Amino acid sequence: MNKSIWGNIKSETKMTNKYIETDILIIGGGITGMTSLLYLLGENKTITLIDENKIGSGITNKTTGKINIMQEYNYQKIEKTTDKKTSIKYLESQIYITNELKKLIKKYNIKCDIEKNDSYLFTNSQNNIKKIIKEKEILSKKIKCETIKKLPNNYPCLYGIKTTSYVFNPIKYINEIKNICKDKINLYENTRALKISKKLDYYLIKTNKNKIKAKQILICTHYPFINKLYIPFKTTIEKEYIIACKPEKTYKANMISNDNEIISIRYYDDYMLYSNNNSLLCNKFNHKKNMNKTIQNFKRHFNYPIKYTWYNYDILSNDHMPLIGKIKNENILVATAYNKWGMTNGPLAAKIMTDILKNKENEYADLFNLYRKTNKKKLLNDCKYNYNNIKAYIKNKKQKNIKYIKKEGIEYAIYIDEKKQEHKIINKCPHLKCKLIFNEFDKTWDCPCHGSRYTIDGKVIKGPSNYSIIPKKTQK
Ligand SMILES: Cc1cc2nc3c(=O)[nH]c(=O)nc-3n(C[C@H](O)[C@H](O)[C@H](O)COP(=O)(O)OP(=O)(O)OC[C@H]3O[C@@H](n4cnc5c(N)ncnc54)[C@H](O)[C@@H]3O)c2cc1C
Repeated sequence: MNKSIWGNIKSETKMTNKYIETDILIIGGGITGMTSLLYLLGENKTITLIDENKIGSGITNKTTGKINIMQEYNYQKIEKTTDKKTSIKYLESQIYITNELKKLIKKYNIKCDIEKNDSYLFTNSQNNIKKIIKEKEILSKKIKCETIKKLPNNYPCLYGIKTTSYVFNPIKYINEIKNICKDKINLYENTRALKISKKLDYYLIKTNKNKIKAKQILICTHYPFINKLYIPFKTTIEKEYIIACKPEKTYKANMISNDNEIISIRYYDDYMLYSNNNSLLCNKFNHKKNMNKTIQNFKRHFNYPIKYTWYNYDILSNDHMPLIGKIKNENILVATAYNKWGMTNGPLAAKIMTDILKNKENEYADLFNLYRKTNKKKLLNDCKYNYNNIKAYIKNKKQKNIKYIKKEGIEYAIYIDEKKQEHKIINKCPHLKCKLIFNEFDKTWDCPCHGSRYTIDGKVIKGPSNYSIIPKKTQK
């Protein structure tokens, strides 16, 4: 089962084949695209949002929904790859957007179960105490942060720190925004942006349904589908496995530790969400096996009935901060690489991008600029990411249960299902030509490098790839 706890996505599945003209086009209806809508309400402009699937069905549907200022060891990681000033500025941006998000939720009366939590970063390893002390030192410059030796749910804890955070239901948040905007903004689902062409003073966007003329574009697609920005060389993808169970007692608390691997716990309603066993996307690609390991780890500490299990991917950048901003000489804005903290960085991206559209100053725009300078440490991270990706990719390339054939220079991969039916695809991801892996868990073909996904018969489900891998003869 790969289904999250967040409930049903409200969808009227509106589509159109007609040509559309709009001032602003938002591509992608996750937390970034939908929060951008809120910031654009009231502007005297026509606004259109399209999503390749249902609005809210992307990564935001598979998050744990913690709005955290404390973000594991992120501030010291940023300090290491940049400097102290940058790390503090990032901390300020997270405090700023948490307050902004609370204001938006209040202003529009968004019923999304937001509540205050105690937030814990803890360790059970003597070696990591120093790291926690360092994180506390940075956090304490701007927020209240205290030392603890015990967690409220009695999960083992040698040492830790506590701050305040918020949690919410991200899908209720998105459904409510959809309701607020539906009469003011054109929202179209099952509409995939395929290509953007620059014309004299506008853009023509080709979708799978129609053509859209837009003056300004926000790309909020999680992984951008345009290759201009060298995103694949500055980022890597990590996957995360989650279990939702029914514990005996719940707490207004969330906690995270990263000794050898991340363990994250939060509570929602009468559920406990447990996450563990993260790894690079291309490494250990067998989701079934990985999910079983997460369940085994969970059972070492808890004996509660499991109700949901799910996994998904998020993008990590080489300096642990998101990439947000305007493409040079274009009226196109992009936001990506939230380093698994998209509940703050998604709304922050929305605020920065819409401020840029409105020609308004934003004091964090420079920090996340798409063209920020690189340095030796960032380059080292790039090399590490790419080396690990390539190593795992080569190891994963051939799966035992898949038949590979080559014809006229094209490699095909064939999966034979339980009914002995063959499912054949072109074994090359149209995005950046990586070979694909058959994902037994969801019965999909997945790109282990950049996360594109295809149905069992090769129809594209999720980008950055925009094209299917159906062999010509079977294409409809
Ligand atoms: C398991 C897990 C747990 C997490 N937990 C937390 C947490 O507790 N707190 C936190 O802060 N962050 C968390 N994150 C990170 C956070 O969930 C993500 O960073 C965030 O949801 C990304 O939002 P988004 O709007 O960029 O992307 P999405 O929600 O994926 O939205 C992008 C949308 O764009 C659409 N789209 C894509 N391509 C196209 C196209 N070509 N044309 C049209 N539409 C397109 C998609 O269908 C999708 O709906 C977690 C991530 C994972 C994987």
